[in-house]
Amino acid sequence: METQILPINSGSLELAKNIITGGDLVAFPTETVYGLGANALNDDAVKLIYATKGRPSDNPLIVHVHKDFDISELVTDIPDYAKLLAKAFLPGPLTMVYKSRGIVCPTVSCGLDTLAVRVPSHEGAQAFLNYVGLPIAAPSANISKHVSPVTARHVFDDFNGKIRLILDGGKCTGGIESTVLDCTGAVPCVLRSGLVTRDMVAQVAGECDEYHMVEGERVRSPGMKYKHYSPRCRTALFDYAHRFDALREYRESLARGEKPYIMCDEQVAADMEDAKILNLGRGENEVAANLYDKLREGERVADIIIAVAPLKQDGVMVGVMNRLTKACG
Ligand code: AMP
Ligand code: MG
Repeated sequence: METQILPINSGSLELAKNIITGGDLVAFPTETVYGLGANALNDDAVKLIYATKGRPSDNPLIVHVHKDFDISELVTDIPDYAKLLAKAFLPGPLTMVYKSRGIVCPTVSCGLDTLAVRVPSHEGAQAFLNYVGLPIAAPSANISKHVSPVTARHVFDDFNGKIRLILDGGKCTGGIESTVLDCTGAVPCVLRSGLVTRDMVAQVAGECDEYHMVEGERVRSPGMKYKHYSPRCRTALFDYAHRFDALREYRESLARGEKPYIMCDEQVAADMEDAKILNLGRGENEVAANLYDKLREGERVADIIIAVAPLKQDGVMVGVMNRLTKACG
């Protein structure tokens, strides 16, 4: 199968619609990462997502809808705080989990009675969802456990010959997957951290909990139990206080004749002397936007990525550190 990368225009949207209604997969850009989409109402198409990615069959998918789509067609028991949050943050990088009406095929939710719904803000994503006119189930468009894609080229590197179409909407500006928020309880609860932070949710909803996996307990966010985001090279992670140990590790690796790189933000880079740097930039949003691109660059050029955590650990950095730990921990 030939994999086409096309800019988003009337011709590529028509092709995308034909592929989706024919039960096949289309990769598309969002403001967080690229998604691998299928018609959420077609069970075989959704199963194809799992098969193509090699995704574990108990890790549910997020349904993506156009901004004018009435989500009460798909879910029920929408609490008042969720309406406030939707008004404040949608379209945007926030996924909300509700009680499902059972309209979307059961494979999407892996048999759970809930459904995760997202309204992406990316213009290309909105054009795609509008043109296709269907709810689209989509995980990130990477081979399971590999680093998430933030460019059309990243998607191509993972799925060349395996999918027909990648809609190219440029580099994703957000860079880490959406915040997943459980809206089935009296108080919203962050299941996965992202660009919409716990504090931002609490400011609108009054309160916000954060879920932490407890050994032996039923998992509320099935995706969290999996190792994710791994680059295909050796990795090591140092916290900010141990950044000079990272530099020592770098020198030891060099002395063994390897090609090490240090991955860090601009503040840490200033302490790394002449070491080769995968620079994540300055500030939490820039670091989030660069994280996956630099991990993918690192696996191409480095024998080992030696990551150093930024000093700041709150806000968006909670989500960044969660990914960095799973990638390099
Ligand atoms: P991905 O598609 O790889 O970005 O992952 C989707 C994330 O959403 C995973 O962490 C899932 O566990 C989570 N998720 C999807 N549907 C549900 C649901 N119904 N309840 C709880 N978490 C969900
Ligand atoms: Mg993913």
